Amino acid sequence: MGSITENLQKIKKSLPENVTLVAVSKTKPIVDLIEAYNSGHRIFGENKVQEMTEKWEQLPKDIQWHMIGHVQTNKVKYMAPFVSLIHGVESLKLLKEINKQAAKNDRIIHCLLQIHIAKEDTKFGFDAKEVTTIIETETFKSLQNIKVIGLMGMATFTKNKNQIEKEFQEIKNLFDSLKIKPETNNLKINTLSIGMSGDYRIAIKNGSTMVRVGSAIFGERNY
Ligand SMILES: *Cc1c(COP(=O)(O)O)cnc(C)c1O
Repeated sequence: MGSITENLQKIKKSLPENVTLVAVSKTKPIVDLIEAYNSGHRIFGENKVQEMTEKWEQLPKDIQWHMIGHVQTNKVKYMAPFVSLIHGVESLKLLKEINKQAAKNDRIIHCLLQIHIAKEDTKFGFDAKEVTTIIETETFKSLQNIKVIGLMGMATFTKNKNQIEKEFQEIKNLFDSLKIKPETNNLKINTLSIGMSGDYRIAIKNGSTMVRVGSAIFGERNY
């Protein structure tokens, strides 16, 4: 495995132009993020609000911080001043809280709805029907300080490529059906966040526009 800079360059070179790379830096020390930053990277993903906030405080302010993990409603306020995209939105309750905290900060916070595609109960998310229902509710339409720009999904942790592909196709189909809906003030679907170190190539073949890659850039994590 190369250096962080080498890994980043190699991965970036392999990505189609329309695919955004989120460098997942969770558990990694600030020096690692600085190396990625110095090589030109600006989009980082974290899965814990507190860790992300601490890193945001210490690092240059032109970094875009993506929250990719499961979010508890009582933690939203800490990241509302700076978070650039929240990937893991899996309830209307959470969306309402993000809206409230975004309003307090005079911001519009971009969100992705997390879709449950894996055949594992440990992963969170809406099913396809719920999403279609929720975005039609008056409650959703009244949320002025959020903008839902797409979907996020995590495939089952498996070596079975066919299964991963099937799950990605499932979310891609939902993405396509939402993308053709008329744009509103808080809904404009253009981002499909699928693909991690082990499966981002499969995800790209299946329509990913945003990949979240951690260990292939920063090395394995020790929890
Ligand atoms: C940790 C994490 C990633 C990155 O995982 P790698 O396998 O290290 O690339 C991507 N997405 C989510 C939601 C994660 O929690």
